[in-house]
Amino acid sequence: MPERTTDASQSAISSAADGTDIDPIGAAASRAQLAPGLYVVSTPIGHARDITLRALDVLGAAAVVAAEDTRVSRGLLQRYGITTPLIAYHDHNATEVGPRLIERMKGGEIVALVSDAGTPLISDPGYRLVQSALAAEVAVTAIPGASAVTAALTVAGLPTDRFCFFGFLPRKGAARRRMLTEAAAVPATLVFYEAPPRLAGTLADLAAALGPRQAVVARELTKLFEEVRRDSLAALAAHYAAAGAPKGEIVLLIGPPEAAAAPDAESVDDLLRTALAGHSLKQAVADVTAATGLPRRQVYARALALQQSG
Ligand code: SAM
Repeated sequence: MPERTTDASQSAISSAADGTDIDPIGAAASRAQLAPGLYVVSTPIGHARDITLRALDVLGAAAVVAAEDTRVSRGLLQRYGITTPLIAYHDHNATEVGPRLIERMKGGEIVALVSDAGTPLISDPGYRLVQSALAAEVAVTAIPGASAVTAALTVAGLPTDRFCFFGFLPRKGAARRRMLTEAAAVPATLVFYEAPPRLAGTLADLAAALGPRQAVVARELTKLFEEVRRDSLAALAAHYAAAGAPKGEIVLLIGPPEAAAAPDAESVDDLLRTALAGHSLKQAVADVTAATGLPRRQVYARALALQQSG
């Protein structure tokens, strides 16, 4: 593993933390003596100024910026007067481009990895490149910054002591049902990314699978039309079913299950009716069992009774 040398951008950060000397952008970049390797650089999720001084230093000092979409990242670099060449690196060319990047880093170059927005690897490309770099004993350094998951958690008002990030739910089928069942059993705030056209359906599926919980839809964070809507899962599902798909980008958060007493019979019936409307008896029973923590046999008997009563 190559030795890590102290670099100029690190000393710029520490002196800034002392409140003594913040390097102007550009000066630090040209002075930076960064160790070779892979730098995983976070970029804004909306507001263009949400990028760190260190990220700009690294983007300026790198031999190449590996970008999910070079057109998107070229705009960011141009905004800050950075002329580092870009190369496309994404899921479709990773097998071909990844080894070339590893060779360059082994030869002493700095590669900065960025995605279109936020932090690479978080529902974005980069995992394979980081794995290959580590396997090739190339140093990997985080240049942290914006990510929609952390931004949403900080404004949601839901517990943050424990959270579980699921990324995008599978769109349909057994994989989706499996993830919903898994999510129901997690004693933490749950975080999903979701596309606007699927929001109402996903909220309804989550309401059926998880039962009554607080939820938050965080939309267009850091952008002009930022909106954070807080309500119960069922109320949010009803809102978006009536209002139609919202515009923009969305993070969906759901509060942890209450450690409270078992739900009353009426709530269990409500949950079962919602679940039975969209799923088989077997799946509805599995969802409501997971959501309520009641014995499966009890939920099954009630589901049968509801189904038979029409
Ligand atoms: N790597 C990114 C990150 O660190 O957040 C996420 C990339 S993922 C392909 C894109 C998804 O992130 C969007 O569909 C949305 O769910 C979420 N997202 C990104 N920017 C957002 C924003 N400004 N407001 C709300 N959600 C956002």
